[in-house]
Amino acid sequence: MDACQAVEREVDKVLSKFNSLEQQTTKTLSDLISSIQGIQAELDSVPEDTEISTAQTILLAQNSRKIKDAVSKVSTEHKDLHSSVSKVGKAVDRNFPSDFSAVINEEALKGEQKAKLINEVICEHFLRQGMLDIAEELMHESHLNIDESQKEPFLELHRILDGLKHRNLEPAIGWAHTNRAALQSQNSSLEFKLHRLKFISLLLEGPESQQKALLYAKNFAPFAYSNPRDVQILMGSLLFIRQGIQNSPYAFLLDPVQWDEICDVFTRDACALLGLSVESPLSVGVQAGCTALPPLLNIKQVMQQRQCTGVWSAKDELPVEIDLGPERRYHSIFACPILRQQSNDSNPPSRLICGHVISRDALNKLANANKVKCPYCPVEMSPGDVKEIRF
Ligand SMILES: [Zn+2]
Repeated sequence: MDACQAVEREVDKVLSKFNSLEQQTTKTLSDLISSIQGIQAELDSVPEDTEISTAQTILLAQNSRKIKDAVSKVSTEHKDLHSSVSKVGKAVDRNFPSDFSAVINEEALKGEQKAKLINEVICEHFLRQGMLDIAEELMHESHLNIDESQKEPFLELHRILDGLKHRNLEPAIGWAHTNRAALQSQNSSLEFKLHRLKFISLLLEGPESQQKALLYAKNFAPFAYSNPRDVQILMGSLLFIRQGIQNSPYAFLLDPVQWDEICDVFTRDACALLGLSVESPLSVGVQAGCTALPPLLNIKQVMQQRQCTGVWSAKDELPVEIDLGPERRYHSIFACPILRQQSNDSNPPSRLICGHVISRDALNKLANANKVKCPYCPVEMSPGDVKEIRF
């Protein structure tokens, strides 16, 4: 972020120079043009065969000198501009290091199998984005075999989402209806929200669609029990169809933000249903990398300056903790309150019968003659009663 701001400052400098130069040049040019036009008018006013006077000759000479000066001034200023522009390039080089070799683990991406996995992830990303042609081309060039049944869900998702973006609800409503049972089992409100939007768009058509809206309200029946308040509001809004919903207490129903929301709800619920992650794994990877790279490069530099390069030797482990933000936290981490270590597969969290949780290593250390005493509330138990916890 700092790097972007530093470059932006240079760009702003160039832009302001550009603007002031443009203003100056335009002014100089228009002054010159008007003085030349003055002379021209004067020359035109005398009869053709008259010779020009000495005063006019001097005036002409003065003006041509002025023009020459102005032209050379403009070209000098233009050259100055070049140096400012090249400063932007230098700022980009300075602020965005291009040498990442210090933090790259070359082994991580080596081998045919890994290259295939990377191609698959890229391909999946293109399919998600609906870029079918590019995905097909990549499959062809990298000899990937992704069969039609794998492609189909992505294409369908994209087609429906595209419809929603163009405010066409029909494909999404059809999809939600087909998958109603599965959607309900994951507590999805998608289908109700789609019908709600359809109803609102009928309301917007005005009094002539009142009957249509009323009939459409039948679609709320399966959801009336779980969304009674929303259904009441929607039915109440029908009373204002004559005067226009936008002039009624129900104007909030027309908020366009609902169309963005429905796209998010659809993507989230449909991905959950198909067992896909909401975001493309490739973009998650790239974003995580972009966040992690600057601190890693910094720490590498510090290590080199202090000549302690051996500290970060295990490259599948990071030398510092990188916080990717709350939206990139996928699972809870348990740290043992006794040993102050993060739990892992070989040292999982263990729940004592009193409800307190410590790590298995701590439990083993505390166990004495087949008895364990909770370090918090001294309840005694046998290690066999302790249960492993999985998050
Ligand atoms: Zn306890």
